[in-house]
Amino acid sequence: MLTPLLNRAKDLGFIAVGFSLPDTPPYFDRFTAWLSDSKHADMAWLERSREVRADPMRLLEGCRTIISLAYPYPSQKVGTPDGLTVSRYAQPTLEDYHFRLKRLCRELTKIIKDIDGRSKVRVCVDSAPILEKGFAWSGGIGFIGKNNMLIIPGCGSYFFLAEILTTTPMKQSNVEAMENQCGNCTRCIDACPTGALEKPFYLDAGKCLSYLTIEHKGPLKDTYGRHMGDCFFGCDRCQEVCPFNEEEETTKVLLPSADTFLRMDEGLFQEKFGKTAFARAGLEKIKANIRTLRALG
Ligand code: SF4
Ligand code: SF4
Repeated sequence: MLTPLLNRAKDLGFIAVGFSLPDTPPYFDRFTAWLSDSKHADMAWLERSREVRADPMRLLEGCRTIISLAYPYPSQKVGTPDGLTVSRYAQPTLEDYHFRLKRLCRELTKIIKDIDGRSKVRVCVDSAPILEKGFAWSGGIGFIGKNNMLIIPGCGSYFFLAEILTTTPMKQSNVEAMENQCGNCTRCIDACPTGALEKPFYLDAGKCLSYLTIEHKGPLKDTYGRHMGDCFFGCDRCQEVCPFNEEEETTKVLLPSADTFLRMDEGLFQEKFGKTAFARAGLEKIKANIRTLRALG
């Protein structure tokens, strides 16, 4: 029953698929403790959606299966001709991954409907309150590293996660959740420039450059800005040092220079980047990041 779905997922470029029951997600206790410690910065929506996250059935009535899917992005950095870079996942010459992955997942929902014509489905790509890493772990896709990323041995952590919730029961035989494989390694914690990884599996989002340079609405404090290095959108350092990731030293120059960004008006930004992941931060945030990086980085 699962073979057509797994084959189609592979054809579409997904590198791993896992199936979980829609129970309270693994690591939910860890998540609520983290919220109670107020380590989620000003992402108040995480607090508001706590109950829904505890019960995926609230996302799709009658849900019987959560299908977790991993889709890769390149390990090579993308940058500007004057040496600035952005987080790898941004892929700023492509449409925002939320839209791309949703389309791919909808292709898979057609297979589910072929298997079970009465199935109800819901596709989630960061678009619904679900603890996606926990379900990907319980579906056997990978393990959660001390850097809080899901890691697939042999592939690393440079991939997006998406979920399809369905009322159709599905189960893969002989699949078990993976043991953590970090061992004594602490490279990610040691490499985090702001101390955001306060201890294994524990991130203070308010100190994390990935959050501060994209989601955070206010100005970036100097304390954190001075650690941006050459990256003005996101931060990959706790992944770059991870031995499970392939090292890629070169940077692909696909972006305009920092000065061009600083001179850019909203019309041109929308034309060039309005459908990309850059739109999430917006032009003014990107300009502010570049100014901070130049002043302190
Ligand atoms: S993304 Fe950067 S700032 Fe955030 S935890 Fe990783 S290394 Fe630290
Ligand atoms: S850098 Fe080391 S400790 Fe951190 S996630 Fe990778 S293997 Fe685990």
